[in-house]
Amino acid sequence: MADTATKARPVLALRIGDVWYALEPVVQGPGPVKAWKLTKPDGESYCVSRDQWGYACECFGFLRWGERRGECKHIASVRSLGLLGGERG
Ligand SMILES: [Zn+2]
Repeated sequence: MADTATKARPVLALRIGDVWYALEPVVQGPGPVKAWKLTKPDGESYCVSRDQWGYACECFGFLRWGERRGECKHIASVRSLGLLGGERG
């Protein structure tokens, strides 16, 4: 019984456009970094994170345009939910 309880991790769902992503916190230990893993139904996943330098995502769009735009749709969506912190600063 205890085994089942520890294995049953809660997972959030996040919809971007027509795609539902599973949204799971990435535990990185103490410190200001916050990160979330977004997994698409086809299994592809991206890690969205925030550190003292700003936001980052592993998707192609962010790697290509993120430095200029500062965010991709994944970052924008996670931020809009207030899950990355720092929105007020
Ligand atoms: Zn992205």
